[in-house]
Amino acid sequence: MQTVPDTALSARARKPDGTRVAISSPRGPFEVGGRAFVVMAGPCAVESEAQIDEAAQAVADAGCAILRGGAFKPRSSPYSFQGLGEDGLRFLAQAARRNGLATISEIMDASQLDAFADVAILQVGARSMQNFSLLKALSRCGRPVLLKRGLSATIDEWLLAAEYLLAGGNDQVILCERGIRTFETATRNTLDLSAVALVKQRTHLPVLVDPSHSSGRRELVIPLSLAAAAAGADGLLVDVHPHPDEARCDGDQALLPRELDELLARLDPLLSAVGRTLFRHAPRQRKAVAR
Ligand code: PEP
Ligand code: MN
Repeated sequence: MQTVPDTALSARARKPDGTRVAISSPRGPFEVGGRAFVVMAGPCAVESEAQIDEAAQAVADAGCAILRGGAFKPRSSPYSFQGLGEDGLRFLAQAARRNGLATISEIMDASQLDAFADVAILQVGARSMQNFSLLKALSRCGRPVLLKRGLSATIDEWLLAAEYLLAGGNDQVILCERGIRTFETATRNTLDLSAVALVKQRTHLPVLVDPSHSSGRRELVIPLSLAAAAAGADGLLVDVHPHPDEARCDGDQALLPRELDELLARLDPLLSAVGRTLFRHAPRQRKAVAR
């Protein structure tokens, strides 16, 4: 099996202080990596203009800076909801703009790059982790990429996939652990926190955790998020839906808006215990009322 060479571009020794990925946002740029812990939140999929708007409002009100929402969904079955495609990206961008948020959305093919012009972070999903032509195209796109770990990918395979992005000239790479396949069936996947701690030691790239796809169960999202923060993760990618019972995709693992508030409140003291701070967006500017 191919292992990551000591000379790899992702090796921690190359940047002992860690990479900071710059995110452009309507309320000013900020970074993933470094001391701040960044929470990206939103529905698994953009389902309608009203749904993503309501989600964006909840995400902004909670103080998060990045709205997630898939428009091109990689579904196991071709008969499941595939996402709204370019309309979904348009609704995502509008909702984010109205609420002063940056965005993250999954790109499945290099031919979609133009449609993703307004998306701040390009997400490479677990199923695409070894889509090498996609990785090569994204290595030249000049924008931050979040690379999820493949469903059954080893840590070395994951880091070598990141190496494709770095080798092509993109150093704005964020890794995301989203659970791996094991014999366990009580959870959707098994969150591999050892990988988070190990990858933080082996690379200089920021590492996020997705507690939603890791567990598939809403009631596990807060405990797993706290564990991720304690293990050294640099942030979270978490599913939040205003009406999870009506979700067209992954409703069982989505937090309600009030549960997102609870998650952030519980993260605060834990992060200060490990020397980090929760990144909270500056309050939104309210329009001045003419008198
Ligand atoms: C997602 O985040 O929407 C997603 C499809 O996750 P994963 O690629 O980790 O399965
Ligand atoms: Mn999902």
